[in-house]
Amino acid sequence: MTLHAAIVGSGPNGLTAACMLARAGWEVTVYEAGKLPGGAARSAELFGPGLISDLGASVHPLAAASTAYAEITASAPPGSGGLDFAHPPVAAAHPGDGKGAAPALLHRSLERTTAELGEDAELWRWIFGPLVNNWEAVKEAIFTPPSRPFAGISRGHHDDALSSLRAVRRLLWAGTSRGAAFAQFGAVGAMPARNLMRSFKTDRARDLFAGLAAHSTAPLTRPLTAAVGVILAAAAHTEGWPVIRGGSQQLVDLLTADLRAHGGEIVTDFRVEGLRDVPLTGLRLGVRKNLRRRGYRIEGRRAGDRGPRRRTGEEVADVVVLDMTPRQMLQMEGLHLTDRVARRLQRWKYGPGVVKIDYLVDGPIPWQAEGLDGAGTVHLGGSAEQITASEAAANSGVLPGRPYVLLTQPSAADDSRTPDHRTVCWAYAHVPLGLDAAGTARAAELIEQEICRWAPQFRDAVLERKVWSPADLETWNANLVGGNVSAGLSTIGQTFAGPASMRRPYSAGMEAVYACSAATPPGGGAHGMSGYNAARAVLQDTQSHL
Ligand SMILES: Cc1cc2nc3c(=O)[nH]c(=O)nc-3n(C[C@H](O)[C@H](O)[C@H](O)COP(=O)(O)OP(=O)(O)OC[C@H]3O[C@@H](n4cnc5c(N)ncnc54)[C@H](O)[C@@H]3O)c2cc1C
Repeated sequence: MTLHAAIVGSGPNGLTAACMLARAGWEVTVYEAGKLPGGAARSAELFGPGLISDLGASVHPLAAASTAYAEITASAPPGSGGLDFAHPPVAAAHPGDGKGAAPALLHRSLERTTAELGEDAELWRWIFGPLVNNWEAVKEAIFTPPSRPFAGISRGHHDDALSSLRAVRRLLWAGTSRGAAFAQFGAVGAMPARNLMRSFKTDRARDLFAGLAAHSTAPLTRPLTAAVGVILAAAAHTEGWPVIRGGSQQLVDLLTADLRAHGGEIVTDFRVEGLRDVPLTGLRLGVRKNLRRRGYRIEGRRAGDRGPRRRTGEEVADVVVLDMTPRQMLQMEGLHLTDRVARRLQRWKYGPGVVKIDYLVDGPIPWQAEGLDGAGTVHLGGSAEQITASEAAANSGVLPGRPYVLLTQPSAADDSRTPDHRTVCWAYAHVPLGLDAAGTARAAELIEQEICRWAPQFRDAVLERKVWSPADLETWNANLVGGNVSAGLSTIGQTFAGPASMRRPYSAGMEAVYACSAATPPGGGAHGMSGYNAARAVLQDTQSHL
């Protein structure tokens, strides 16, 4: 008998979970509220035909590192294409102090980066060298945590617990150099990013690292915030920070083609609002023994549906996988959570949101300093201390006077985004969660002021712009709660513990209902690994019960 999975949400994680289950022989239906699948990995012709803007993710160190995508592309059916990663000459840049110093550049080559870091060359090499040398193992440890780390301990089944302990032992003792790399990553990553920044002697290295660490969205004075900057720099020195030629949509197209080739179905324009319990028939239970005592029908509505009545799906899903963040899970009807799980979801912290501007520019951005034009990503917002202060402000609900701005220019690597000399790019600033319309207008002005500090002719070069407030982002994709782009604050407690249960990070807190969004380990980014790990958890659970 074929098992049926309903996946709610078609971001990279939902689609990856769907592909893995369909590849394992399951019947899979993906329900997506938007008109098209792909979530925050979609691209669109925002400024007209042939002008491809990434609506969300644009720069892909994590997709390049993803074992899920490697597995899918390695055995993709003919014609479903692959991922063509295009590397810019410079992975990321910080423009410097504005007093004539050259920009700080993060190169794919560790050697080249350190060669430009003067007095901090040695420290940079000491931090990143061991991680780069042991990247495959580091990546596996970060991306693929055990899907049931402590499950065996409390249930009296020792297999899971033992395999988790063995994995830890393997990581630590698999060789002196690898063990040392992990120990060092633990020690350095555990620091607040600000402390690590202060260990550098030069502003150049401090600013470069601040731009990376601020991706975490958490206050940089919190313990463990260094880890995000460390992982992103190590990824730059190994995988690079590529864009996907033709737009991030290529990733979505790959996953949807793979899913369909394995018999999966995607229902778009269908917002899921609840689950309805369906007692399973004796036959079903007999076939699957004690797998579960219930199945689910998906309930929801299409965009045009009016009135209180919802549509209810025909299919009974044996398993439901939610590509949703905790706040949305709390709103799902029929998700009967225990008080403890509900409290955990209510405590989930989202951190800051963003105001994003997509641009169509008349040629490349007219940067003043050399080197910035070749960078796929440019981190703006002042010195390391200024970025630390503005991240603290955004986290405490105050729009900073000079926010941290992250700008991506895919044209540095990929000339296929426009048919001519024009370029598309986007920039976003970290702002208080759910910032209102007036705040958005102010933030948009601050973003442009910041770009103009380094490219004074920028406004003249802009042909068109589209500003997205936090509310616009959330309307487009409900996972972008209050404009937050990573399904929650990247603290270690949230990133590695899972939203509903630390013991089972991919559980949604109810029987046969799983979570797979960026709110589950390993956290934000278009890597699909949360979906991959959630599918593994589903397969482990069902196999062990069949
Ligand atoms: C502006 C922006 C820039 C980013 N830049 C980068 C980057 O450069 N590199 C990078 O790696 N990452 C980046 N990210 C983060 C990355 O895109 C996300 O972490 C990733 O897309 C998360 O994938 P997901 O599958 O968990 O969720 P999402 O991609 O958010 O997808 C969730 C999907 O679920 C659907 N959905 C939600 N609720 C329902 C419901 N009730 N019923 C049906 N469907 C529902 C939504 O419509 C959406 O399609 C960026 C994100 C944004 C917004």
